[in-house]
Amino acid sequence: MESGKFDIKPLMWEKQDNEYVRCSICHNRCLISPGCTSRCFSRKNIGGEMELNTFGLISSLAADPIEKKPLYHFHPGTKVLSVGGWGCNFTCLHCQNWQISQPSKKEEEILLRQGMGIGGYCVSPEELVNLIGENDCQGLSWTYNEPAIWLEYTIESAKLAKKKGYYTAYVTNGYITPEALDEIAPYLDAFRVDLKSFSHEFYSNICGVKNWWGIYETTMHAKDLGMHIEAVTNIIPTQNDSEENLRKIAHWIANNLGEDTPWHVSRFFPYNKLEHLPPTPIETIDRAVEIGREEGLNFIYKGNTGGESVTKCPRCGSVAIVRTMPVKVNLTPEGACVVCNRDLNAIIA
Ligand code: SF4
Ligand code: SF4
Repeated sequence: MESGKFDIKPLMWEKQDNEYVRCSICHNRCLISPGCTSRCFSRKNIGGEMELNTFGLISSLAADPIEKKPLYHFHPGTKVLSVGGWGCNFTCLHCQNWQISQPSKKEEEILLRQGMGIGGYCVSPEELVNLIGENDCQGLSWTYNEPAIWLEYTIESAKLAKKKGYYTAYVTNGYITPEALDEIAPYLDAFRVDLKSFSHEFYSNICGVKNWWGIYETTMHAKDLGMHIEAVTNIIPTQNDSEENLRKIAHWIANNLGEDTPWHVSRFFPYNKLEHLPPTPIETIDRAVEIGREEGLNFIYKGNTGGESVTKCPRCGSVAIVRTMPVKVNLTPEGACVVCNRDLNAIIA
């Protein structure tokens, strides 16, 4: 399928000498040689012109509780239509979605030849937005692989979703450039970002990317743009579980995004190329929560640990959200505590 089927022009690219093209959607800032596909698989260079590979090609679609993203302070208790595409700008060794994020060359060929996902679908932005209501959802999120790599598709569907009164959320590795984020910002409400580590080594060795600091810069930009932000750190034994690393992440969040920014610290389970590592001990997650508190964070949540999750007002201790099925929400329409009116950095309307 050609992107021309939808009459959509690729964004954020420039011609270079000798028919090369440069993409600036993410911090990889790929230089793509003639005839080649980008490392993220979402675009290709045809004769010195950028073309889209995956516009509308859906790999995964599900109606999920918004809490599953995880987004805990953003429209709690609602259902979100979650959609994923093909490819990724990272090559994480422990990726749980590697079948869609890191397709093999053979799979890429089949995908391109068929013009649709491997066992997947080609869905126009209009069709996608219609599916939100049809699935009894209140919003749309791009997840499973990195949303920024099909920026054009997320923009077109976000525009339509916002027009119809739905909320929108990126579940992202944060590697989008600030200038690319500007393109979707008017239509994007939430930025659920992975802050995987505070080190070049981790991002280079585990995720295969070089500009780790770009993630932190873009996340600050998302904050400046007024998006609702929640951060996730999946804690992997021996890789990013040191006290120093966790403290740096928590400190950065508190000082740059604000002490009321939710921080999710989740357990890692052995998977894919990190199968040789053990699961994260519960004690490590408990220590991460303590570190977050010591750094001033008010909303720290454990992930993949089981059990109920509760949000309490940091000032008066009143219970504001209980994440059972169904989720119980006890907030003012402005997202404040119903007892003492403290702002809980929650969006419910
Ligand atoms: S989105 Fe990122 S990885 Fe993909 S072509 Fe553009 S710069 Fe490269
Ligand atoms: S950023 Fe996410 S989807 Fe992409 S490779 Fe890493 S874990 Fe997989």
